[in-house]
Amino acid sequence: MPTARVTLDTMAERLAGVTECPGFEAELFLLHTTGWNRAQLIARMNSPVDDTPLEPLILRRLAHEPVAYILGSWEFFSLELAIEAPLLVPRPETEELVERALSHLAPDAGRVLDLCTGTGCVALAIACNAPESTVVATDIHPVAVRVAKANGERHQQSLSVFEGDLFSALPEDTSPFRVVVSNPPYVEATTWDGLAPDIRNYEDPGALLSGVDGLDCIRRIIAEAPDWLLPGGLLALEMGESQGAAVLALLQDRGFVNCAIVKDLAGHDRIAQGIYPASI
Ligand code: GLN
Repeated sequence: MPTARVTLDTMAERLAGVTECPGFEAELFLLHTTGWNRAQLIARMNSPVDDTPLEPLILRRLAHEPVAYILGSWEFFSLELAIEAPLLVPRPETEELVERALSHLAPDAGRVLDLCTGTGCVALAIACNAPESTVVATDIHPVAVRVAKANGERHQQSLSVFEGDLFSALPEDTSPFRVVVSNPPYVEATTWDGLAPDIRNYEDPGALLSGVDGLDCIRRIIAEAPDWLLPGGLLALEMGESQGAAVLALLQDRGFVNCAIVKDLAGHDRIAQGIYPASI
């Protein structure tokens, strides 16, 4: 049997054609099949490993399947989350949405709504880091609702997850929220063909595409959010890097104040936010 080091090198070489992080992904796969943690792997670099269980994983990855689907779990905001196809794989830039919500909640707790929750990543990250808050999530996809609920249980959070289209999924007696967040679909129809095959061939187009300019869902959320926000409440939305001006205008036209665009770590416009004023 080859050593762990040789196994990692061979795997990384094969994966180099489909990913920019072949070494990292090789390590994730080896940790997954051995059940070791990173420290154990480092200590056992020269130990032999059985590489047979790795082969089916590598073949799936060579067909561009996202690593998260192959592993069945993915990390977001330092939380290990279950995931399965075709849910949107949590992206690092979405962590900023969580930061926005948490800074608006501090120092008091409040009610939070996460629309288009997918795996429940944003809702859960908020719930875990603002334990006094009540977090409600909705998604139109039944797999998302099932997985988000399971992730809530996994992290012992009492997340309420409702299936349905945006706000209409909420029960009638729902009280207003201090924070509404969403990472909705926002990709323009014309961009679709240019997306990486990992995204285009595997993730739910319903979680990505939103009309010709990608803003259909964002327009609906901004139009309806004031009916669900407390005065002084925050609406924060993830959006595409070229959509900042358009989303800012939508927020201002709907009466939101203190509107701002927040950049992601790559320096791209990524989050649009606004406060719903006490009176307009
Ligand atoms: N940023 C995502 C991408 O990689 C899009 C996510 C979304 O539409 N919410 O395409």
